[in-house]
Amino acid sequence: MFDKILIANRGEIALRVIRACREMGIKSVAVHSTADADAMHVRMADESVCIGPAPSSASYLSKAAIISACEITGAQAVHPGYGFLSENAAFAQALEDHGLTFIGPSAEHIRIMGDKITAKETAKTHGIPVVPGSDGGVPDFETALEVAAKIKYPVIIKATAGGGGRGMKVAKSAEELEIAFRTARSEAKAAFGNDEVYIEKYLQKPRHIEIQVFGDGRGKAVHLGERDCSLQRRHQKVFEEAPGPCITPEMRAKIGKVCADAVAKINYIGAGTIEFLYEDGEFFFIEMNTRLQVEHPVTEGIFGVDLVREQIRVASGMDMSFGQEDLEIDGHCIEVRINAEKIPAFSPCPGKVTQYHAPGGLGVRMDSALYDGYRIPPYYDSLIGKLIVHGRDRPEALARLRRALGELIIDGVDTSIPLFHMLLAEPDIQNGEYNIHWLEKWLDAQFN
Ligand code: ADP
Repeated sequence: MFDKILIANRGEIALRVIRACREMGIKSVAVHSTADADAMHVRMADESVCIGPAPSSASYLSKAAIISACEITGAQAVHPGYGFLSENAAFAQALEDHGLTFIGPSAEHIRIMGDKITAKETAKTHGIPVVPGSDGGVPDFETALEVAAKIKYPVIIKATAGGGGRGMKVAKSAEELEIAFRTARSEAKAAFGNDEVYIEKYLQKPRHIEIQVFGDGRGKAVHLGERDCSLQRRHQKVFEEAPGPCITPEMRAKIGKVCADAVAKINYIGAGTIEFLYEDGEFFFIEMNTRLQVEHPVTEGIFGVDLVREQIRVASGMDMSFGQEDLEIDGHCIEVRINAEKIPAFSPCPGKVTQYHAPGGLGVRMDSALYDGYRIPPYYDSLIGKLIVHGRDRPEALARLRRALGELIIDGVDTSIPLFHMLLAEPDIQNGEYNIHWLEKWLDAQFN
């Protein structure tokens, strides 16, 4: 087992990893930018190293600075959290080249899944159902027209190198396709430096259902059921729950096994998420994330496992501490993402938190790096906390969420808390009847 782990991240996820390290008796090293000198992850880690100025390109994304920080502190492994360098194959490779362990999958697996076309092909090869669409990249508009005519409109054009919901354009007709195709390409070029795009059938009322998988890198893998992350704004998740309100035990067992078998076959190591769109009883693969997800706590909650601890175990060469037969769902979990944003514009709202009070009590988990007097810097993501509740069933989890949100106090900045109070009053949310378009439509009706 490692003696010391460096956490190449900030905010709540850095705390999450530090907590796992502490419980395992492992020393933790925080890295931070100059803007984060007073951040909670720096205070909570055993050691800390400043790795650069405020912009993440010069600090949290600087491979050289992070590797130097490992050398200075003697850290043997790096946990990347999510975002930043967590899905950067070159970073995983660079660590290996320096004799350090990347706590995550191999550079090769990150590379395969990071390219959405190769990912889709790999999924198909392993029997995972995919969204109908082009076979690989679409080189020109004429090909786009042919593919769209075959799979029928509406279609969605997506960037091969895409991520974070960017570089996607929907076309409902051949007329719309031309503009959509060109804008998707130029946006992809600007955002990812790669203008390759592909086409998929645009599903009209799907739910976003993702399967958590975990492998030991030696041919053993399990699935930890699904999360329903259909409540999204601009393809960004805001509310996640497990188990999925519309997924039966039979469906879970079936799709879960397909996913677990696929990752076992490729000797995948660590945590991964296979994302699907789900419509009319059918699953369609969209992508795989080769890292811990923001919403992993809802899975931890219903299975009572610590996914970060497992990541660290398998990265150090140990076995996973559970098998498929040990995993049984207990109750229901919901997570809401608390962002420093002004509703309804969702504009970022950094600034000083004058008062912070976290909710508590049975079945309540608050993952946040806030404290009284903390100044939220303007340079990074607006996620400032995740409130996760567990109940014996969905209604109990909803009641607990309402109660916990009522206790949560974040003063000094605008947050998304009022949005959740409003959402919880909606019958569709109470009944679990929503799809990926529900939230945008609801926001339109409420605020426009
Ligand atoms: P990213 O990597 O940018 O998050 P994804 O491929 O995971 O992109 O898609 C993000 C979201 O975009 C999905 O959760 C869904 O809301 C929407 N989306 C993606 N593909 C389709 C599709 N074929 N039909 C309808 N919606 C889609």
